[in-house]
Amino acid sequence: MRLVQLFPGGSAPAFGGYGESMSKSDDIGQCYSCNARFSYFLVHNGFNDSAYAYCDTCGMTSLLSGWSKKIPEGVELRIHQVISEAVEPFLQKCFCGGSFKKGASPRCPRCSSVLSAVEATKYIEANAPGARMGWRWQQDWQGVYCITVEGRVISDNWKEEKEVVG
Ligand SMILES: [Zn+2]
Ligand SMILES: [Zn+2]
Repeated sequence: MRLVQLFPGGSAPAFGGYGESMSKSDDIGQCYSCNARFSYFLVHNGFNDSAYAYCDTCGMTSLLSGWSKKIPEGVELRIHQVISEAVEPFLQKCFCGGSFKKGASPRCPRCSSVLSAVEATKYIEANAPGARMGWRWQQDWQGVYCITVEGRVISDNWKEEKEVVG
């Protein structure tokens, strides 16, 4: 699947520098535990007006649009970054049985090792056109950028209101 860029209520931001990476195909990253290569896609949650989280077990990415009508009442979703802990209980579990958590990280699709956000600098900056013009990778899994690994992403996986306990 391909992520759709939405610019609700305003004009599209001017693309240039790192923005170019949004419109091309997936890039190739590497796991430094098992050396497997994998495809990944860098998502700018500012352009998307979204927040995100990773599954604490398999590393799948959950993208949460700030414009979704499924956001439960009373949930304060702060976009452009990883979710807050207060949002975690409102999200459906991952297909693998894990949970989407603020502190979780993407994982290698082969050995399931947590991908280091610092080690990822090597391939993310090498693949980002804007890096030549001074753009730098954020070096964490909580800032405005997130990645999806091998296309593993779920969107707006909010629980139905009646499922939320406590
Ligand atoms: Zn690996
Ligand atoms: Zn999972």
